[in-house]
Amino acid sequence: MSKMEVKTSLLDNMIGVGDMVLIEPLSEDTFIENLKKRFDHNEIYTYIGSVVISMNPYKSLPIYTAEKVEEYRNRNFYELSPHIYALADEAYRSLRDQDKDQCILITGESGAGKTEASKFVMSYVAAVCGKGQEVNKVKEQLLQSNPVLEAFGNAKTVRNDNSSRFGKYMDIEFDFKGDPLGGVISNYLLEKSRVVKQPRGERNFHIFYQLLSGASDDTLKKLKLDRDFSKYNYLSLDSATVNGLDDAASFRTVRNAMQIVGFMEDEVQSVLELVAAVLKLGNIEFKPESRCNGFDESRIKDKNGELIVGFFSSQRLSYMSWQNSTILTDNSFEQFIINYCNEKLQQIFIELTLREEQEEYIREVIIYVADFIIVVILNPTTVYHNAENYFSGLLIHLSTILVYICPLHVFCCLTVYHSLLNVVYVVMAPPTAGFQFRASVGTLMKNLLTKNPNYIRCIKPNDKKAAHIFTDSLVCHQARYLGLMENVRVRRAGYAFRQPYEPCLERYKMLCKQTWPHWKGPAREGVEVLLKNLQVPAEEFAFGRSKIFIRNPRMLFFLEEKRRQC
Ligand code: ADP
Repeated sequence: MSKMEVKTSLLDNMIGVGDMVLIEPLSEDTFIENLKKRFDHNEIYTYIGSVVISMNPYKSLPIYTAEKVEEYRNRNFYELSPHIYALADEAYRSLRDQDKDQCILITGESGAGKTEASKFVMSYVAAVCGKGQEVNKVKEQLLQSNPVLEAFGNAKTVRNDNSSRFGKYMDIEFDFKGDPLGGVISNYLLEKSRVVKQPRGERNFHIFYQLLSGASDDTLKKLKLDRDFSKYNYLSLDSATVNGLDDAASFRTVRNAMQIVGFMEDEVQSVLELVAAVLKLGNIEFKPESRCNGFDESRIKDKNGELIVGFFSSQRLSYMSWQNSTILTDNSFEQFIINYCNEKLQQIFIELTLREEQEEYIREVIIYVADFIIVVILNPTTVYHNAENYFSGLLIHLSTILVYICPLHVFCCLTVYHSLLNVVYVVMAPPTAGFQFRASVGTLMKNLLTKNPNYIRCIKPNDKKAAHIFTDSLVCHQARYLGLMENVRVRRAGYAFRQPYEPCLERYKMLCKQTWPHWKGPAREGVEVLLKNLQVPAEEFAFGRSKIFIRNPRMLFFLEEKRRQC
């Protein structure tokens, strides 16, 4: 694609603008309209400056081919139409050529396309980095870690048939040539409670179904398992099979992936034994026995079972009481801390976006005075008595997040307003879990702040997991939650658009006699001559070291219009 076509694609009215900073006039309506227009044309990626918005198309698009990889390889970010590969390429090249550590933060709600996006980034990097036996082995291991993680950490939910029930942080180390040396994956907040209970219409973690569907008769016999899902309390029956998910085939993929990742055969066996043991644990039933020293005692109902004496009531231990418990159907502590983590990520997103913006101005020696303020409201008012003690510690640490608390029920329920989303929490777990978690999130955030951030903001277009449907209200809600409008405003508050001198001159040189057909001097001077000639007011531009900065998107449209008239 030539550079001329490129610019047209950023501004093409038919398919909407490729960069949200160019929307004129900017409002929530025009923002959503632009996303919709692009979505309708299968343009699922849109920029806000260097941030990539990704709309889930819920259908396969032919935009992840080897040819696409080649197209985006070694190209400047704005050169081609928006694509996740442009971000992956930029991040990889900065790492390889400038030795700058990168992090790619992928956010969005369940089903918005985060997992898929992470796989596209990884496969892009794997495709463009070095070749050779050792490197290929590392690449294969990194890519094959996905099926393993997904088997044990993903489940079908009402929102997503392959929903990750944990946060994943993957660190990939590269050598000086830009070849991967290896990776470390840290997991956060695995939703362990799903093992014993799944909300209506959802499944347990994939691995249970994969094992029962895909293991050989011999393996199942060894593990003393029955192929029939209905034999196991932990496997909800209302949605045991999922359209489009082939559990048996996935089992083979997972076993193979475990081998590639480096599990020895006896380790694979041990893992499968553990999975089998968990399934069987779910079938143990307890019966109450006489009280002992004021404590309840419980025994396993089945006389053949090993004797266990524990000071718990059978009600607490039994699977049925978990199933009947209403508390778990509410948003739980797990959900609270997941949202807490998301809020933290959102907070550093804002911090880093500002920082990046300022750094660019400093790099380009442009003096810039911020004319916008980001308001952070903290107003933890009355919290109901029980909840107060419990949450007070946490609240201290939520101090920079938009948090507002109000009592809701007589018990320890309260509503925390996460940005624009109101969520009701029920106290569950001991506070120590919260502090452990806070420590790990703290480490994660510190780590992220040392790296150059790249952002992918995923949005799902509808709640039906369907292609071609764009529900304005749902998209609008997510755009608000992700703070995308603020993001555009930050970007536009100073200079909305920036471009290296060479492509700018190349595109507009036809508008002035002195620069057409060839400008002999430095590109920067050519752009100066060009703008002077067009009598563009000086305050509309700033000349950086390597780029021209354009204050108002309207100026870009003016130049485009002139071109059309030529
Ligand atoms: P998340 O990780 O945000 O919960 P996923 O990445 O699992 O969401 O995406 C949910 C589903 O949406 C995927 O299983 C896939 O079917 C579809 N999907 C997401 N992104 C894309 C994409 N870029 N192209 C095609 N389908 C996609």
